Amino acid sequence: MNKINYDNLFKETVNSFNGEKKKLLLHSCCAPCSTAVLERVTPYFDVTVFFFNPNITESEEYYLRLNEQKRFLKEAYGETVALIEGRYFSREFFYMVEGYEKEPEGGARCNLCFDNRLLETAKTAKEGGYDYFATTLTVSPHKNAELINGIGEKLAKEHGVNWLYADFKKENGYKRSVEISKEYEIYRQRYCGCLYSKYAHIKTEEEA
Ligand code: SF4
Repeated sequence: MNKINYDNLFKETVNSFNGEKKKLLLHSCCAPCSTAVLERVTPYFDVTVFFFNPNITESEEYYLRLNEQKRFLKEAYGETVALIEGRYFSREFFYMVEGYEKEPEGGARCNLCFDNRLLETAKTAKEGGYDYFATTLTVSPHKNAELINGIGEKLAKEHGVNWLYADFKKENGYKRSVEISKEYEIYRQRYCGCLYSKYAHIKTEEEA
C-alpha cells in the first residue's frame, strides 16, 4: 500500500481556501517545534497556540518550556498569535501511562500521550468554534506522522472538527525549527518530556 503524503494533503487543504484565512487551534509541544510550524501555517490561518502538555512531568521543566513558548510568540508574532494554556496536572499523565512505564520512546506509552494531547485539542477547538485543529508534533524526526495523522483523523470524526493533515518535518521543517530557535535563542530540551524519556536520555548519554 502506498504511503500517504501528508505534506501534499496539507498543501491541498490550504490551497482550497483560495486566500480566505481559517481559524486554527494549533497544539504545541514546545517553542522550538512551534517555530517552523507557525512559519508554515500563519499565511493561511488565524492561529491560536494551545499549550497542553501534562506529559512534561517535572513542573520546573514544564514552566521553562511554557515560558519559552510565550516569549517566542511575543517576540516573533506580537499580538497576532494568541496562546491558550491547557490545564497542567502531571498526575493525569502518570495515571494514564500506568503499566507502560518501560515502553521505549515511540511505543504504546507515546500513543496514549499523543491521543491525550490531541483529544484535549480537538475538544477545545470544537468548543471554541475553530475551523481546524493541528499539532506541531510531526516536525520532529522522532515522531511518526502516519500515527499522529491517524489519531487526528479519528478525533476529527468523533468531535466534529476538521483535522489539518500535515507532516511538518517536510520542506526542511526540522532544519527550520533549529534555525529559528537559534535566531531567538530558544531553550531546546534534550529529551521528549516525561520522566521516562529523561531517564532514557540519561542512560544513552552514560553509555556513549
Ligand atoms: S516519550 Fe514523549 S511522547 Fe512518549 S510518553 Fe514520554 S513525553 Fe509522551
